[in-house]
Amino acid sequence: MSDATARLAEVRLAIARAEADAHRPAGSVTLVAVSKTFGPEAIEPVLASGQRVFGENRVQEAQGKWPDMKERYPDIELHLIGPLQSNKAKEAVALFDVIHTVDRPSIAQALAREIARQGKAPRLLVQVNTGEEEQKAGVIPQEADAFIAACRQEHGLEIEGLMCIPPVDQSPGPHFALLAKIARRNGLTVLSMGMSGDFETAIEVGATHVRVGSAIFGAR
Ligand SMILES: *Cc1c(COP(=O)(O)O)cnc(C)c1O
Repeated sequence: MSDATARLAEVRLAIARAEADAHRPAGSVTLVAVSKTFGPEAIEPVLASGQRVFGENRVQEAQGKWPDMKERYPDIELHLIGPLQSNKAKEAVALFDVIHTVDRPSIAQALAREIARQGKAPRLLVQVNTGEEEQKAGVIPQEADAFIAACRQEHGLEIEGLMCIPPVDQSPGPHFALLAKIARRNGLTVLSMGMSGDFETAIEVGATHVRVGSAIFGAR
């Protein structure tokens, strides 16, 4: 058994425990295994142990390593969790099943155009910059409702949920709670929140998707 396989089993157990502690149904949280910077040889054992949902943060890196594995495991589900540039919308729509980082009108517009052109629509989440950090992507909380409405009405996009990355130096709970609140008032059911260090807290607050990298694959 590879280290990653053993760690994956531990993460799955921890997720199951957190679901039970929060009185949530078993299996209500989807584990997105974040494989950024790791090559196929590191990912293969994780695939072999049944994991099918993976997250990548760069379109180009994902294009280089996933097409082959997707051919061998057609039920792989790929999530883009890193910033998207408008000029990569074409590649992103072609490769990814879920995009977590819709955060500005130019991206919404580029995605709408590619979805129409390719006749293939990834599921879409809006990234919210809950900590209002200068350097971080995402719409600020006060602008989230208007942006979600614009995605729906002006760009005809179906938005499924929200994603956030809390500031590293703050307790994540309040950020997760804020994301859940914005989702509720916008009728959104998917919450992508929680990483290796805080996924249990996120599950307590209602995460439907946790994005876990180093706890499975090791340090990057
Ligand atoms: C890298 C990354 C993760 C995974 O982080 P870990 O701390 O390694 O679990 C989750 N979400 C995003 C957006 C990331 O870029």
